[in-house]
Amino acid sequence: MSRTLIARISAVALFLTLAWVGYTQLGYTQNPPPAKLTLNKVKDDLYEIEGDGGNVAVYITDEGVILIDDKFDRDHQSIVDLVKSVTNQPIKYIISTHYHQDHSGGNAKFLPTAEIISTAMARTNIVEHKQQGNVQPPDVMPARITFTTEAAVNLGGKEVRAIYMGRGHTNGDAVIYFPALRVLHTGDLMAGTSPLVDYNGGGSVVEWSKTLDNALKLDFDTVIPGHGPVTTKAGLMTYRDNVEKLRTRVTTLVHEGKSQAEVAKFMETEYKWAPDSLQQKWSVPGFMTELR
Ligand SMILES: [Zn+2]
Repeated sequence: MSRTLIARISAVALFLTLAWVGYTQLGYTQNPPPAKLTLNKVKDDLYEIEGDGGNVAVYITDEGVILIDDKFDRDHQSIVDLVKSVTNQPIKYIISTHYHQDHSGGNAKFLPTAEIISTAMARTNIVEHKQQGNVQPPDVMPARITFTTEAAVNLGGKEVRAIYMGRGHTNGDAVIYFPALRVLHTGDLMAGTSPLVDYNGGGSVVEWSKTLDNALKLDFDTVIPGHGPVTTKAGLMTYRDNVEKLRTRVTTLVHEGKSQAEVAKFMETEYKWAPDSLQQKWSVPGFMTELR
């Protein structure tokens, strides 16, 4: 090969490499690939899908599958594939725990083939775009069927109950109860190590522990939280006590006349709430008003 030809081939190769890097990086920033999800068995015909967004419960019956929540829009195919790995039954119903896009972001893609059920307030919060910041894309779709106190899906001889028990994370959180299995899906009424109060979406740190007290009256031993690993009723009781402790401590600060910046600093030191976190942005300003 002549030197010019080699130089030309090298130039073309370099161009293609740069173009490929540019293309993939653009692709990444504009449309991140779905994060890896994992499916775990909870009990009998009940599974849960963890990773990227809220925990999805998968309840298999002989007449179809009931999902609790559907993560982000980008997780749709991964959820469908994981459900297919354990059953040939179609996904017929999705019960939403609340309106945030990491729990309801998959609604748009599921609605053509499944019925979605949520509290009336969760629907309203989507319709009125109550999620703060620009994290809610315009295509998060609300449920077609809503309830205010309680709804149940009875399918293939199995029952799932969705119950509104009061404000907490938002003003429209449903807890999901599987009576035959004695399992509770809490949505984000239990998530992570400390509560995220979405005041814009009607949340309340004062009502939160009362709402969990109502939920704790149900007969269950296993808890699927909104985020994090599956736990027990005792785990939920500890979480409830921590919510109350946090509220008491912050109330004391607010009553002492501490500024919002001082409360924010306290949350950062004591609860590891990073300065840029949703907890700092959504919850702390609301604390200053609600706990006054
Ligand atoms: Zn949430």
